[in-house]
Amino acid sequence: ETAIRFEGAGKTYPGGTAAVEALDLEIPRGSLTVFVGPSGCGKTTSLRMINRMVEPTSGRVVVDGRDVSSVPAHELRRSMGYVMQQSGLMPHRTVVDNVATVPRLTGVPKRRARERARELLATVGLDVQLAERYPAQLSGGQQQRVGVARALAADPPVLLMDEPFSAVDPVVRQDLQRELLDLQQRLHRTIVFVTHDIDEAVLLGNRVAVFATGGRLAQYASPEELLRA
Ligand code: ADP
Ligand code: ADP
Repeated sequence: ETAIRFEGAGKTYPGGTAAVEALDLEIPRGSLTVFVGPSGCGKTTSLRMINRMVEPTSGRVVVDGRDVSSVPAHELRRSMGYVMQQSGLMPHRTVVDNVATVPRLTGVPKRRARERARELLATVGLDVQLAERYPAQLSGGQQQRVGVARALAADPPVLLMDEPFSAVDPVVRQDLQRELLDLQQRLHRTIVFVTHDIDEAVLLGNRVAVFATGGRLAQYASPEELLRA
């Protein structure tokens, strides 16, 4: 069953950069699909067309059968977690409150929201001792864990991840990759994951979309098929 469908979705930015050519792609529900390719080939632009951070200039993107352009952007973003290379945490709030903010926004009482936040922090493997610290008092890898916990806090069926592990050192990165795989085995979310690292793509992806320069889709295959080619 298809969760996200690109139907000839393309993006030319004002100024004329053709970032993504008409993209046709079906992302199965519950899969971890990776967009991989060299820098500047349109991965982030494609990812952002899913939650309307970027509006396509041709074609459309359909999520759960609905053209996203017909869904209010704020509603769409609330229904999708988003994790970037920088964790994007609020510096003046503690770790637990960074995560609790999300359920608070949907009306969950403060105490319950903080409980939920602690559960999520445990889920992503963050030491409970760190929950009362401020983001700047955490390592880059720890901050990324918090970012993932926050993205999961709204219990979103779709999780968009843009180079989430690129800024952390290789050892921590392996930990985070393993935990993402583990998390996905338990939660079965639809995850779209952007990376420029083909090893990471093959390790994590159920499906791998290989982008080429010029925002063209070169290949869309399982990791096994890619390795055989
Ligand atoms: P990737 O994620 O693969 O590195 P991007 O989607 O970020 O690629 O960018 C694709 C192309 O679009 C690049 O040439 C980039 O410079 C250009 N681009 C990205 N964002 C913008 C923007 N907001 N305005 C103009 N050009 C952009
Ligand atoms: P960049 O600095 O990567 O170019 P932009 O300037 O295009 O990013 O703006 C993206 C910003 O919008 C991010 O900093 C992010 O915090 C915010 N944002 C937009 N949509 C979402 C979302 N669905 N979830 C979280 N943050 C979002």
